[in-house]
Amino acid sequence: MRSFPDSLFAIVLALLSVMTVSAQPQSPNFVVVFCDDLGYGDLGAFGNPSIRTPNLDRMAHEGQRWTSFYVGASVCTPSRAALLTGRLPIRNGMMSAKRRVLFPDSSGGLPKSEKTIAELLKTKGYATAAVGKWHLGHLEAHLPVNHGFDSYWGIPYSNDMDAQRGFPNYRRKAEEDPHYFAPVEQYQVPIIHNTTIVERPANQHTLTQRYTDKAIEFIQRHHEQPFFVYLAHSLPHIPLYAGKNHLGKSRRGIFGDVIEEIDAGVGQIMEILEDLEIDDNTLVVFTSDNGPWLPFRTHGGSAGLLREGKGSTFEGGMREPTLFWWPGKIKPGVQMEMGTTMDLLPTFCALAGVAAPNDRTLDGYDISSLLFGAREQGKRKHVFYWRSEELYALREGPWKLHFITEGCYGLGPKRTVHETPELYHLEHDPSEKYNVAHLHPDVVTRLIKSAEHHKAGINKMEDQLAGRIPTP
Ligand code: MG
Repeated sequence: MRSFPDSLFAIVLALLSVMTVSAQPQSPNFVVVFCDDLGYGDLGAFGNPSIRTPNLDRMAHEGQRWTSFYVGASVCTPSRAALLTGRLPIRNGMMSAKRRVLFPDSSGGLPKSEKTIAELLKTKGYATAAVGKWHLGHLEAHLPVNHGFDSYWGIPYSNDMDAQRGFPNYRRKAEEDPHYFAPVEQYQVPIIHNTTIVERPANQHTLTQRYTDKAIEFIQRHHEQPFFVYLAHSLPHIPLYAGKNHLGKSRRGIFGDVIEEIDAGVGQIMEILEDLEIDDNTLVVFTSDNGPWLPFRTHGGSAGLLREGKGSTFEGGMREPTLFWWPGKIKPGVQMEMGTTMDLLPTFCALAGVAAPNDRTLDGYDISSLLFGAREQGKRKHVFYWRSEELYALREGPWKLHFITEGCYGLGPKRTVHETPELYHLEHDPSEKYNVAHLHPDVVTRLIKSAEHHKAGINKMEDQLAGRIPTP
């Protein structure tokens, strides 16, 4: 038996060790909920009059709602590459003049030399999961588990790929019926678990809820260590499907059902964080990869007061409804400074105490001080709007200069190269209605110089989207 002073000593030692552990700053958890083709005007919190989003409204109320938050490209593949690498896709070959995104016959994907958020956080012992649509290469070398994620469960590319003949034309059906959904067999999209196909075709009716369930299971399993969950919903990209609890429930047709199901999933994630008492140590971000796919009419979303949609470098293609939630940490309110998905990598690195890569150009900034309530101008001075390996436009403060304009993917005005670039004041004129280049020639000259300077700093990597798997 131990003597009294010995056991007292043991107790003091135990107490000291507990105090040391609790005094260490805890690495925060990160959850990114990334939608597909969601428009600026598709959430209740951003003014939609017929879609209910109570959980996203709560994120907006308790957190920050960003009104000038951008993506790195106006279509899926390059936009996703931008978020995960913190870099414009023109730098790493994930934007192409030949093919806009990756397809089931593509041989390429995100280059191994790129560093993703997941890879960086792994160096600090984070558990990392990718759930949902990947679209950065479906061959094994390019899958999430080979880009820093411990696990992956989801579809490897868009939910309208692997389309089969002999089914009704989706676009025509969508024009006729705001509640239409296609037979699941029409799209032979697989579900991949890590590197193995586990279901084909994916049952897309249940996919949104299953993604949420996978994210929640991961959080429950890993809540005692820091974690990063990248939850990339495949919807509301067409074809639209909703689970039985949401189908036919919204006032907005099946598009509204889809958004309300995504919203309910966000609520379930907030609830599990609260139940596990880790909500005060978890940053949740909600945004989308690009604007609404307008040709699908009621099956596509709405960019609200912004011009054009998916595929376009007008604001509707690249400005996204974005929310940040971290109770007790983020200063609630509306944030009007400029931000982009490329800011997430340096921000997460700073909060996790990981050094951001310094051997390459990053296009993001640490925005944590804005999130925590600093009354300051953001570090970001520019937003660059690239499409098909060309710089179409740039924003500097409130001014936006268009060198080339083109409408929404599959619709809208044809490509026009402007001999005299068009100038818009995005704060006075968020809908880009009034070209004021003739009133501000000095601003035009200054922005042309900024564009030239930016382009001179771009070292393009080889096109990763053009390659195809050889046919036997
Ligand atoms: Mg998309």
